Amino acid sequence: MEQPFRMKVTVLGSGTSTGVPTLGCECAICTSDDPIHHRSRASVLIESPHLRGPVVIDTAPEFRLQMLKARVKSLRAILYTHLHADHCHGFDDIRPFLFKEKKPIDCFLREDLHEEMKVRFAYAFVDTGYLGALPKVNLEPVPELGLFRVDDVDVEAVTLPHGSVRTTAYRFGDFVYATDFKGLPESIQTRWQGKVKYMIASGVRFQQHHTHNTVMESVEMMQRLGVQKGYITHLSHDIDYKRDRKRLPPHIDFAYDGLQWEIMD
Ligand SMILES: [Zn+2]
Ligand SMILES: [Zn+2]
Ligand SMILES: [Zn+2]
Repeated sequence: MEQPFRMKVTVLGSGTSTGVPTLGCECAICTSDDPIHHRSRASVLIESPHLRGPVVIDTAPEFRLQMLKARVKSLRAILYTHLHADHCHGFDDIRPFLFKEKKPIDCFLREDLHEEMKVRFAYAFVDTGYLGALPKVNLEPVPELGLFRVDDVDVEAVTLPHGSVRTTAYRFGDFVYATDFKGLPESIQTRWQGKVKYMIASGVRFQQHHTHNTVMESVEMMQRLGVQKGYITHLSHDIDYKRDRKRLPPHIDFAYDGLQWEIMD
């Protein structure tokens, strides 16, 4: 179906690649007792009556803890944005979900990344004779630009620049999840203009970053797209949730771990 549709989005992790607290750092945010500043690596959970089960975007290093916290009992599919360590190194922990499914889990990522996936997690793809449980997946291609289907849902993929690599952003109806990118190409801006009401996009920090949008670059992007409600994710320890949200427009806020968002059509 071509959307919109009902879904629930849970921010499993809202942190940048090092996570917050950052190891060895004693800044005010890294030593903060406030759980709003405890940011595991970036990932979201998508649940919808139009999907056969829970879908995650990326498997962060904290995947297991994130699944426990969100009380996720099964896993229908994984959609990968890209294969930087902070977005995929929880992959091995999908194994317990396989005991339930008894078949490989569908794993969607751009075809140019399939080989890298097989190299990075070679033990899961090469038969070594090992008899223990392995994280078995069906690698499914995601288009560079265009629609693909997960159960009853048409998901639109677009490819965005992220330094020396590229990342896939996903649109489900009126909702977009876009992380790890620098700038939205004009063609995507035109394609999505007025189509995206709800968005989670990465921002990292206010200072310039050579491979990531800053907070304000993502705020301005959302404003250009006509987003009605947005959250900035993939946040570093530079972001003080309470102090810095005052710098954001009223319809845009910072994400935090555990944030749940019901999106109705
Ligand atoms: Zn990242
Ligand atoms: Zn710090
Ligand atoms: Zn990245």
